Amino acid sequence: NGLSISPTTSLQSPLQIFVRAKKKINLVYGEVEVYVNDSANFLLGVPKNCELVKQEEQDIVTSHVGKVKGIREVLARDHMKVAFFGRTSNGKSTVINSMLRERILPSGIGHTTNCFIQVEASENGESYLIAENSDERKNVKSVSQLAHSLLCSDSLGDNSLVKVFWPTDKCPLLRDDVVLVDSPGIDVSPNLDSWIDRHCLDADVFVLVANSESTLMLTEKNFFFKVSARLSKPNVFVLNNRWDASASEPEFLEEVRKQHLLRTVDFLVDELKVCNSRAEAEQRVFFVSAKEVLQARINEFKGLPINTGMVADGFHGRYFEFQDFERKFEECISKSAVRTKFDQHTKRGKAIVSDTRNVMEALLERASVKRAAKTQIRREVLDHLDFTEKQLQLVTVEMKDKICKMVEEVEHKVSKAL
Ligand code: GDP
Repeated sequence: NGLSISPTTSLQSPLQIFVRAKKKINLVYGEVEVYVNDSANFLLGVPKNCELVKQEEQDIVTSHVGKVKGIREVLARDHMKVAFFGRTSNGKSTVINSMLRERILPSGIGHTTNCFIQVEASENGESYLIAENSDERKNVKSVSQLAHSLLCSDSLGDNSLVKVFWPTDKCPLLRDDVVLVDSPGIDVSPNLDSWIDRHCLDADVFVLVANSESTLMLTEKNFFFKVSARLSKPNVFVLNNRWDASASEPEFLEEVRKQHLLRTVDFLVDELKVCNSRAEAEQRVFFVSAKEVLQARINEFKGLPINTGMVADGFHGRYFEFQDFERKFEECISKSAVRTKFDQHTKRGKAIVSDTRNVMEALLERASVKRAAKTQIRREVLDHLDFTEKQLQLVTVEMKDKICKMVEEVEHKVSKAL
């Protein structure tokens, strides 16, 4: 009861791998932008009559200016994305709420998630939602308001997306650039292929929220077969939720856990082939109670003990297992997102800088050749001028002599005539 379970502070969180990488790549791209823009302006400033810059070179650098601008926009929006799937009522919304430490998504009887709901950080501290194909921000202050708004958005269909923007003060995950996507139950939708096209291709991690009171269903498995056919080795975690129910049958607990683990590991390693070994797969399977974790975190936020005494046996074990899941999930998502989101940008950045450098070096080379040629011409002109000057001097001296003589002669004749 007195146990204090503090949330991982933001700075210790493995999510910082992504947060720091994003900061760094943004800084580097800022420098790339300055370099490419300066180069483009320089090329534009070179007078056309010098014939130093080729049109295709100008075009290359100008197109890079646009590319860098586009990449910077994408980079600013890049985040880590986790998508939750599972049958209706397995507890997807409750798991998301537990991870966010707040009751944000409506859950439970009377509410089923009918479309995709993406929760992400609100940049202005307000909570609001934006439905697909709409620019309207609907303010939502509470879960019930959100539930109502979502019901009103029902006409959107199961494939559509509603984005919920939420303040980050209580939710370290949102602060660290994670977006969480809730989905309609796998059991109710015939649209699985288009779900994958629209919502899964850019997900870094998938969480299958299963029900520990039953075994994995074929519908759940089939969905992940489809995902893994489209994405090479997706990162899949399996949460056997509602594990608190096991407390009522302690004599079967170990047996049931072993059986679930065995089947889930078989699924991840042999069927889905997303894990290389059984040991690796075992690190992806957890037995949790999202409902208990959510209540504990809400209590903790209010300054109450996390366990009010009304919980089933084994609560602490389940709570720790949920935290263990979060830690492994954070490590996985941040590494995967750095790789998938930034690797391409890094390669493109390198190519852009090296292209631009090639153009500038070719220009420098041409300019040097031209300067050397001009220096040679100048030297020849100077030599020529030198020669002419000397000639002129000679001519001038001769002329002077002649003129002197002529003057003398004239003077002589004049004096005689007088
Ligand atoms: P979703 O349809 O998958 O999003 O499921 P919800 O999150 O809406 O949960 C359906 C119902 O199951 C709600 O009444 C939850 O309170 C309850 N629930 C969710 N997680 C647990 C759990 O770990 N244990 C128990 N006992 N109930 C849970």
